[in-house]
Amino acid sequence: MTAPALGPSLTGSARAAEIRAEVTARTAELAAGGVAVRLAVVVATEDESTAWYVRSLARAAGKTGVACDVVALPADAAPGMLRDTLARLSDDPQVHGIILQTPLPPGAVAADLAGAITPAKDVDGANPSSLGRLAAGLPAFAPATAEAVVQLLDAHEVPLRGRSAAVVGRSTVVGKPLAHLLLDRDATVTVCHSRTPDLAAVTRRADVVVAAVGRPGLITAAHVRDGAVVVDVGTNATEDGGLVGDVAAEEVGRKAAVSPVPGGVGPLTTALLLHHTVQAASSI
Ligand code: NAP
Repeated sequence: MTAPALGPSLTGSARAAEIRAEVTARTAELAAGGVAVRLAVVVATEDESTAWYVRSLARAAGKTGVACDVVALPADAAPGMLRDTLARLSDDPQVHGIILQTPLPPGAVAADLAGAITPAKDVDGANPSSLGRLAAGLPAFAPATAEAVVQLLDAHEVPLRGRSAAVVGRSTVVGKPLAHLLLDRDATVTVCHSRTPDLAAVTRRADVVVAAVGRPGLITAAHVRDGAVVVDVGTNATEDGGLVGDVAAEEVGRKAAVSPVPGGVGPLTTALLLHHTVQAASSI
């Protein structure tokens, strides 16, 4: 493997800008044909960081010409209300993509509710059938963050075939779908989680380490071998209103290439959500 430049160098912004440009062009073509591309984001929380994320998604959508409707439900909305809303949007021919934003009200289970999003509009791969299709090697929208990791690696020409990858985190939205995407690219994948006894021993063996946990500083220099590639998916709010990942970027950056937070996986995730929405609108 050609060793990429060391340091926090695996930025996602350039590839994200390319994807947004493709989205803008395709949205304009669809508009000329009478199709106004529309994404609906269902939100049932008063969480401030979620509100910030949804606003930035809506702004990014606006710049590409994709309409973004935020469907705000009460923070104590019952699962039935959420399910009915997702079913209504699934039936609405004006809506092409649907996202169910987390966190959800107490008692609501995201993977369960997302079953009400029709797979053709499931632009964040949240419906369990989308994950099943991904696992089976059938066409489906992958969760945007998982796909963003692979796009980031591709953008920096990191080879995957025959390489070893350690994915830290096994959530349905990131770790599990990412494991399938990396397997599809012929990587040898190990998935780690909170019960993995000696995490560093596993990650040190990997050519590519992906951290998707939500714990600042979890991945240190001791977890990474020289010349490895480290993708930091974690987004952790700091007390001063900033954002940090799961990787101790400075020390890890002395021996490996690291994706920055913010500016790595995040911009690609947003761009891919819009890309999926345009794909959904194109296939009607
Ligand atoms: P999650 O559902 O909470 O899953 C976290 C995973 O980390 C779990 O599988 C958990 O293991 C594992 N874990 C916890 N402590 C660990 C430890 N000490 N060692 C190894 N594994 C450990 O989180 P998520 O939704 O996947 O999100 C993960 C991170 O990515 C969060 O910071 C989130 O904010 C961020 N994120 C970023 C984007 C983006 O666009 N950049 C998008 C989505 C998520 P168990 O399964 O055993 O509990």
